[in-house]
Amino acid sequence: MTTNEPTGRTPDSTTVLERFSLAGKVALVTGASRGLGRAMAQALGEAGASVAVTARGADGVRRAADELRARGIRAYGVRADVTDPADVDRMVGEVTRELGPVDVLVNNAGISVPGTALETSEESWREVLATNLDGVWRCSRAVGAGMVERGSGTIVNIGSMSAMIVNQPRWQPPYLASKAAVHQLTKALAAEWAPHGIRVNALAPGYFLTEASPVDQPEYQQWCVEPAAMKRYGLPDELGPAVVFLASDASSFMTGSVVVIDGGFTLF
Ligand code: NDP
Repeated sequence: MTTNEPTGRTPDSTTVLERFSLAGKVALVTGASRGLGRAMAQALGEAGASVAVTARGADGVRRAADELRARGIRAYGVRADVTDPADVDRMVGEVTRELGPVDVLVNNAGISVPGTALETSEESWREVLATNLDGVWRCSRAVGAGMVERGSGTIVNIGSMSAMIVNQPRWQPPYLASKAAVHQLTKALAAEWAPHGIRVNALAPGYFLTEASPVDQPEYQQWCVEPAAMKRYGLPDELGPAVVFLASDASSFMTGSVVVIDGGFTLF
């Protein structure tokens, strides 16, 4: 192979819209029982993928899978905790058996625990890092092994604009640290797996309205909405097209990128 030979590219005859298609692909989305994960699972399914959804709560997983099926999407729900190595191995095994080998992994499961550095306990620190960072590494490793063997695959990690800025006086240090590490882990995996035909990118969302949004706090508007150039928060379905782009051949020359999608929050 010469250094100029393009790899992972669709044939020249493919139209732009066809490059966004995920027909025949299997996608696995962690933390997909609600919020951004649920919206991204729907978008990947609408782009043609069979979609596996996972989270800790069995009811939420069942609901999310049923919702996808009701939209005509081939779906499978599997309960798993990304902090548990045995759960993650079981999850990947089950999805592979039910839908086929995973072509697209979206590492979305994440939590935050409110509090300043001095208020953060050892336990909270570990819990946030175990979910947001260790979980991304663990799922990437479990799915990546098969991708390396097959010589193809895409991974999209959900980071955050909070990896780059600190916009609240009481913002959560373990959350910020974990998301910054996810951005750098994205680049490390991208470099390691590019020779194997695997692309790894991250989305860095700004504020999106989900159950995790602190809308009940009096400062929410002042801290989370006003600073954005667009003066609003995002809606979960506004993240869907971006994940389809990064998961599909539409982004065939992108790896190790962190795509910020924040309504202009980090402009200032
Ligand atoms: P939600 O709290 O609404 O959803 C989180 C999802 O992750 C749920 O499905 C939850 O289900 C699952 N989850 C949590 N812990 C685990 C675990 N250990 N193992 C498996 N699944 C788990 O959050 P959002 O939708 O708002 O956020 C999704 C991602 O996007 C997170 O990584 C978050 O940090 C990131 N993000 C969100 C932003 C926002 O404004 N909303 C901004 C920037 C980034 P269950 O509890 O049943 O396990």
